Amino acid sequence: MENEDQSESSLLVLVLDIGLSRATTLRNDPALAAQVLEAVIAFSNAHLMMKLKNQLALVACDTETTEWIYPEDKKSDLAELRQQDGQHELFNELERTVRRKIAELLKRSAGATGKGESMLSGALGRALCYIHRLQHEERRVNARVLVVTANGQSVSQYMNFMNVFFTSQKLGVLIDVCCLGPESSLLQQGCDITGGQYFRAPQPQGLLQYLLWVFLPEPLLRNKLALPPRVKVDYRAACFCHRELVDIGFVCSVCLSIVCKFSPICTTCHTVFKAPGALPVKPKRKKPKLA
Ligand SMILES: [Zn+2]
Ligand SMILES: [Zn+2]
Repeated sequence: MENEDQSESSLLVLVLDIGLSRATTLRNDPALAAQVLEAVIAFSNAHLMMKLKNQLALVACDTETTEWIYPEDKKSDLAELRQQDGQHELFNELERTVRRKIAELLKRSAGATGKGESMLSGALGRALCYIHRLQHEERRVNARVLVVTANGQSVSQYMNFMNVFFTSQKLGVLIDVCCLGPESSLLQQGCDITGGQYFRAPQPQGLLQYLLWVFLPEPLLRNKLALPPRVKVDYRAACFCHRELVDIGFVCSVCLSIVCKFSPICTTCHTVFKAPGALPVKPKRKKPKLA
């Protein structure tokens, strides 16, 4: 019975991307950004409420850095950990920690130029490291990752993303994505590879409803629910030279690097290739005349 209970507990690692790129509406709308944070905290509480043994972790990232938000390494003082306004101590601690750390992160990144892309792949890597550690310490952990982001296209981190996606596939960790910005083919690929759910919120104001509806149920229950249909995944790869998505490109036969134009020396592994000559033309043979 004890084992059964253990197998039913689930760990959710939330990756919150607060990298405020120029394209993002969140940058221009602080009220909306606050609403997103509220929704994430409420959703975290809902996940912890589902089962007694459910666990939660939260990583945030912006254009400069990734930050571990929750749980903290050092436990907060017991004196601070008392009920306030009838709120459960655990939820209170979670909410205060998340608000404090996100505020610190925002303060630090306020001076940043905001030109770079979000460090989303790094944050995903940290999430996977955490899951891997817990899987070693406690035998059975049903873990999944949920990304909440408004910056879909981080094509320059294409390789990092692919490494993260295939690692989580190997670890048996689902990656779900709730996208608040434009469609992201890269994250769609991640969901498809790991078997997670991709969902683009049509209106960021309704984020909490979408989160509770699509991402709160455990993956095992999902086939019993009427969830939004799977999106058609754009499986284009990014070339290594310009970091742009290409339909047709050249692939190095040694290291599998993708480039959009032929180059005689692979820029990644320095293998030398022969220039592709013109295709040999077969001499036309006359049709034998029928007698
Ligand atoms: Zn290129
Ligand atoms: Zn190569």
